[in-house]
Amino acid sequence: MNALCSSILSTMMPIQFRGNPGRRQLYLTFDDGPSPNTPKLLDMLERHGVKATFFILGKRIVDRESILTAIFMAGHRIGNHSFSHASARTLSYSALLDDMDRCAQEIRRVLPQWDSVICRPPYGDLSVGFIRYAVAREQRIVMWSKDAVDYRAPTTDAIDARLRDVHDGDIILFHDEFLVTQQALEQLIPYWKGKGHEFAAL
Ligand SMILES: [Zn+2]
Repeated sequence: MNALCSSILSTMMPIQFRGNPGRRQLYLTFDDGPSPNTPKLLDMLERHGVKATFFILGKRIVDRESILTAIFMAGHRIGNHSFSHASARTLSYSALLDDMDRCAQEIRRVLPQWDSVICRPPYGDLSVGFIRYAVAREQRIVMWSKDAVDYRAPTTDAIDARLRDVHDGDIILFHDEFLVTQQALEQLIPYWKGKGHEFAAL
């Protein structure tokens, strides 16, 4: 989606593609967890003093409740990424609502105090139904302005090269299950800090 299109959409609907470009902050976002590699990711973020945002997949919470709790207790922000990871474009509105509500219920089963207002559609597939859901549940849809493309099994260097050139307010999409992502961030976070960037959760 081009910049004009996304800025027009953002003024009309509860959709966010970027953070505030007037601040020096970058927003790291991690989709599809909790995963077996999340604890390592949390250690790495803590070592670098970085707060991030995790878009949680409801079906992955069972047997990983302690990992979800660890994300929350570390001070990261948690958002809803659906229960099943079905594209919003393939579901009826009532099925979509059920899928998103089921994820929220599953997160609250573990974290009763969780009261997030952010969500992200699986695959970034926006639809009229997804926007309707966000309005109905008073959620802000968080998309991204930079994609690490880490789901295509790239090398650390490929991720590093793709993300050297970032700008204030960029929301960057990662997935928390890939070690290659963490290895790239070990290099990128100090590089970004050296450029004067800070980090914040959404
Ligand atoms: Zn996803």
